[in-house]
Amino acid sequence: MKQYPRLLSKSLEPYDPVELAKETEKIVCRDDARKYTDFYATGVYGGIATGYTVGCCLRCYYCWVDPSRDFPEKFGEFYTASQTFENLKRAAYKFGVRKLRISGAEPTLGRKHLLALLNLVEKSEFGIFILETNGILFGADKTYVEELSRFTKPHIRVSLKAGTPEGFERRTGAKKESIDLPYRGIEYLKDANLSFHVAAMTDRRIMNSQERKTLFNKLSAIDVDLATNLEEERIDPYDTTLQRMKYAGVNLKWD
Ligand code: SF4
Repeated sequence: MKQYPRLLSKSLEPYDPVELAKETEKIVCRDDARKYTDFYATGVYGGIATGYTVGCCLRCYYCWVDPSRDFPEKFGEFYTASQTFENLKRAAYKFGVRKLRISGAEPTLGRKHLLALLNLVEKSEFGIFILETNGILFGADKTYVEELSRFTKPHIRVSLKAGTPEGFERRTGAKKESIDLPYRGIEYLKDANLSFHVAAMTDRRIMNSQERKTLFNKLSAIDVDLATNLEEERIDPYDTTLQRMKYAGVNLKWD
């Protein structure tokens, strides 16, 4: 990779997200340790203890994650799988919640860390572990999904960015052909019988009805039930989102 991509702008050369994942892993992963910025519980999913990971393999202009997404070398601390589990457990006890999650940037970077963490969760008193992902690494390697299928506790939320290759490149900065990866990842999750649902950024201010329809058709073609298994997302005006959109030259009207 010639230059590590930070923020999406009109001059950013489209990048390969799998290659970016590898480059980012060199920064945020060390053996079974992974960088996190924080651990605390939030009210989503009815209350959940969450670890906030550093580093992503996409550069969505509407991303709300703090600047650790763009400058992973400058933010966060390394935590082994067992330190991460202890931090999640502590946050769960402190806030009286029974679910665990890793979120933030892209939690599937650092496969060794994630699998070791899931091993600990599997043996624990906690019943549900939510894994939020853009699906890129699952689509790139079916064996990753197959390895996840030995666990009973994960529920995976795959977040789609686009229905067309052009929309994918415009919103993420990644090469347009990589749009197939998250859809393939969903197919693999289905094949492995893993618990999952799909979230899609179909905000009508950035996605027209034709592209939204294409996205629905792609999901239907892989047997995703749109009525029960799809969550549509809308962009929120977080400070980080507004800064990234300004940099990308995207202007939206806010209600
Ligand atoms: S929105 Fe998600 S996938 Fe996109 S850059 Fe942010 S963390 Fe990565």
